[in-house]
Amino acid sequence: MTVDNYTSIWTSVLKSLSKQVKKTDFLVWFQDTNILDLNNESVVVGVPSIFAKDWFEKKYRSIIESELKNEGYDKSLTFQIDTSLKAEAKGVDVKNFLDSSKRRSRKINNRNEVSYKFDSGKSTEANTIVSKMLNPKYQLSNFVVGSSSRLAFAACQAVAQKPGNAYNPLFIYGDVGLGKTHLLQATGNSVLKNFDDAVVVYLTAEKFTNEIVEAIKKNNVRGFRAKYRKVDCLVIDDIQFLAGKGRTQEEFFHTFNELYHENKQIIISSDKPPQDLEGVEDRLVSRFEMGMIVDVTFPDYETCLAILMAKSQELQFMISSEVLEFIALNINSSIRELEGILTQIIAQSRLEGAPPSIESVSRTLKKLGKLLPNHSSHSGGYNDNPDMNSSNSNNNSVLMPSTVIEKVASFFNLTKFDLIGTRRTRDIMIPRQICIYILRNHFNLSFEKIGSEFGGRNHTTIMHACQKMEKGLKNDSKLNNLINSVRQNLNL
Ligand code: ADP
Ligand code: MG
Repeated sequence: MTVDNYTSIWTSVLKSLSKQVKKTDFLVWFQDTNILDLNNESVVVGVPSIFAKDWFEKKYRSIIESELKNEGYDKSLTFQIDTSLKAEAKGVDVKNFLDSSKRRSRKINNRNEVSYKFDSGKSTEANTIVSKMLNPKYQLSNFVVGSSSRLAFAACQAVAQKPGNAYNPLFIYGDVGLGKTHLLQATGNSVLKNFDDAVVVYLTAEKFTNEIVEAIKKNNVRGFRAKYRKVDCLVIDDIQFLAGKGRTQEEFFHTFNELYHENKQIIISSDKPPQDLEGVEDRLVSRFEMGMIVDVTFPDYETCLAILMAKSQELQFMISSEVLEFIALNINSSIRELEGILTQIIAQSRLEGAPPSIESVSRTLKKLGKLLPNHSSHSGGYNDNPDMNSSNSNNNSVLMPSTVIEKVASFFNLTKFDLIGTRRTRDIMIPRQICIYILRNHFNLSFEKIGSEFGGRNHTTIMHACQKMEKGLKNDSKLNNLINSVRQNLNL
């Protein structure tokens, strides 16, 4: 059999798998994989890293075996690391399976610089448009989508496919470190990929301002205007920087209008929604409001975990899922921070020559002042000290979901297994619901996560339990008292 045969068999296996595996997981794990060998006895599937190999062994072995069987290859399966799959693009590109819309895949030869020169006239600084700032590391394909960014991501995809057409302007806002720059640059990169001859310019509002100041100084405002009006897709990051800068706003207003009327795409990011941009002229604010306004917020626990997995795979570093969960539970302000912590943990682990453990990571987080105290109302954390008792007021001690379950159980003289089990007597049901309610409301865990802590219950079951508690708390003072005692017992 030839390599092409392998690829075609693997492609049909992947097609079926793409329907069974969560989209983000599929993109993260199945990219750059392929069949390396297939003979009478065995199938060898190549994966790009040791991290992926471990993951495949643990999570995907059985579904791959069964899909291979469906294809007529009921053989023993082994996984083998082959870095050339990625480096030499010998693996299968899985992105095509998830997007059925037409995809024009023109290669842009690692181009990260776009230049435009006037047909006539001298090519001077003023009439040449050059963007050196599109960073190829930002791609839509390596942006992990969660509920907090789904709309923004969908808008970016639509813009990348039909710039100037879908949402114009596209205005993305949110706090720092939540992926705005990533989305902006990725959309720019994607427009370039889809439209080879497009002129895409990314710049921060600060750089835009500096260029105007420079143009005014050199008495070349006309050159500046002419230059930006040749752009097909103008991407301006951190527009809030224009606050209070009247002259820059005026220039931007004219540029905006011209591009807008020519159906050229404008993408803007900001740390706040348009109406809250103080010091920005109303006429600009109303222009921003003409298109699509979407926000990005801090992702839920599952997305944080998916981001951590994707990043550790990118860095080719193996970290156990417990440790990744621990990080995801304890960081709740920005994705940049999540990345920073991960990098630090990897560096430390390499230095010490030992794999990261919950203990070592919690030490690092404590040092950085990042470990969430257990009375935090935002998210839960782990308690790596099982002896911690309820009178312990150490702010650095944090609770792990399973510890919360144990403590609630013992408060009611039950065992953890009573709570996570399926018995439905009232003396167990109420404590179970209280525990679920606390995990949801004090630790901000998702319904899915709580479901998995409670013996793999469905998220709707968990949601109902929470709703029931909320209803009960409105008019049942006994229940209120009971929950308060449990909270006290947990130091919440
Ligand atoms: P912002 O511009 O909102 O301050 P950035 O776009 O600079 O944030 O994001 C900070 C870091 O987090 C970047 O390295 C970016 O690649 C990464 N990042 C943010 N959101 C995601 C995501 N959803 N998936 C993958 N990486 C992300
Ligand atoms: Mg940014």
